[in-house]
Parts: sequence; C-alpha cells; structure tokens
Amino acid sequence: MLTCKFAPVGNHFRVESLPRVVKQGEVYPISVLEPKSLKSIYVEFQGVRFPLAFSKQNGTYEGLIGIDMDTQPSTYEMKIITKDGGSDIHLSNLSLKVEKVDFGIQKLSLPSSMVDLDRKTLERVNKEERRLNSLFLAFREERLWRGAFICPVEGELSGAFGFRRIINGQRRSPHTGVDLRVKEGTPVLACNSGIVALVKPLFFSGKSVILDHGWGFYSMYFHLSEVLAKEGNRVGKGAIMGRVGSTGRSTGPHLHWGIKMNGARVDPLSLLNLKVHRLMSSRHPPTGF
Ligand SMILES: [Zn+2]
Repeated sequence: MLTCKFAPVGNHFRVESLPRVVKQGEVYPISVLEPKSLKSIYVEFQGVRFPLAFSKQNGTYEGLIGIDMDTQPSTYEMKIITKDGGSDIHLSNLSLKVEKVDFGIQKLSLPSSMVDLDRKTLERVNKEERRLNSLFLAFREERLWRGAFICPVEGELSGAFGFRRIINGQRRSPHTGVDLRVKEGTPVLACNSGIVALVKPLFFSGKSVILDHGWGFYSMYFHLSEVLAKEGNRVGKGAIMGRVGSTGRSTGPHLHWGIKMNGARVDPLSLLNLKVHRLMSSRHPPTGF
C-alpha cells in the first residue's frame, strides 16, 4: 500500500526541462520564458484557459494545467496567449501528448439504500450535483494558491484516483479523488491557501468542505466527522478544515481528497512534488515544436 505523506511546504516549483508528455488525470506544470513583461498570459488547452503568473525567482511565467481523467489519449496543441487591449495575441503553439492510463476497477459492496436510491433521495442527489457543478463553474481571477501543495492528512492510500467502480455489481461513476485511510478525528489540512467555498452535508460525500484556490482550482474534503471551516473564510495552507470521519457513503474512517482544475478532474497526488516543465525559451528556442 502506498502512503501519502505530508509533502514539503516549498514556496517554489523546481524547474526542469522535461518532455511534453502527460498522463490522463495528471497536473501538468508549465513554465514559459518570455522576455517581454506581460500583464496577462494564459495557456489554452482544449478551449480552457489556465493563467500563468510571473515567478521572480525563476524569471518565467508559471502555472498548472489540469488534464481531465477522460481526455482522449492523443497529441494536442496548447496555445500560449497574451492580451493586448481586448484582443488575444498568440505567442506560440506547443504540442502536448496525453497518454492513456489503465485506472483499474474497484468492486464494492454497499448497503442497497446507498446504491439503489428512492425518488426523494435521487432528487436530493441531483440537486446537490447541480449545486456543485455551478460552484465549479465560478472562476476567481485572483490566484490564492502559492507554491507547493501539501497532502491534507498523512494516511494510507485505500482508494486510488480513477478507479472505474462496480458497486453491488453495477457500473457506477469513476472515483474522482483519492481515499486516504486514517484514524477518525485526525485533523484535515487545507492543501493550499484559498477561500472556503462550501460547507455542507452531502448525501454521498457526507460532511464536506470545498476550497476555492482561485484561477478555477478547487479542492474537496469529504466524509468528515466534524467541520471546522467556515464558508466565506480565507484559509492558509495547512489550516485545519475539519476532522476525518466516515459520514455519507463510506465504509470506514477515511478522507476523500479531490481536486478540480477548470473542470478537469485530476489526481490530487499528482499535485504533490511538482516539477515545472520548461517549455519555451526565446533565448534558447527548443526545436521540434
Ligand atoms: Zn473516495
């Protein structure tokens, strides 16, 4: 069994020169060297814009791109875009290869009341889903996250990201986060700085906290026994959001930790120990773009 340990709380990414290959459901860190001072710079991937911020330490524009777990394996074009007045200026087009992942299958047996939902429960679940979907559509222009992300608890990985789940013999939606088995009552830490976007008991997720980290990035903490976060509050990296529990559809105390980046469902573990891929240099232009 893998263990998710606290990642070091660094302030900067490590910049390395790596190939432009990423796996389904991974976070792709990007660093762009651009000599001009730009007010705004984005990477557009599959029609979705991911902003970049200037790093004084590295002298580059840096950011993170979320690759959804269901992105078709293929080679895609990323556009590096800046704005001049109201209009877009393409600085460069770069290719990014997305590789297939065999996420595997998880078979679970749960009480039928948690799987075969009656009409009233189904209405509740649908309403909660709509609420979450509209929450994730909101894009905060301000970037609240800084530097490295940390693991919210130190626990054993009991449910991997991306599992195609078969519950009581029926095919269900995939697992869009990681399950970390850990003692009930263990404090759950904010993986980065943000604003508490939602505190709510949800049918499947139990007592839940969702953080908005800005730039369309959200983190989720589910099945808590107790919530300590307050909706609307700003929280720092490492702040206690609540305590580990087994509320909602859960078979024992664990934390479900999920990440959404501009709609992309990504593996939270791929956010830890990120290395930035240096992609463009106008001083030393790489070949093969
Ligand atoms: Zn889970």
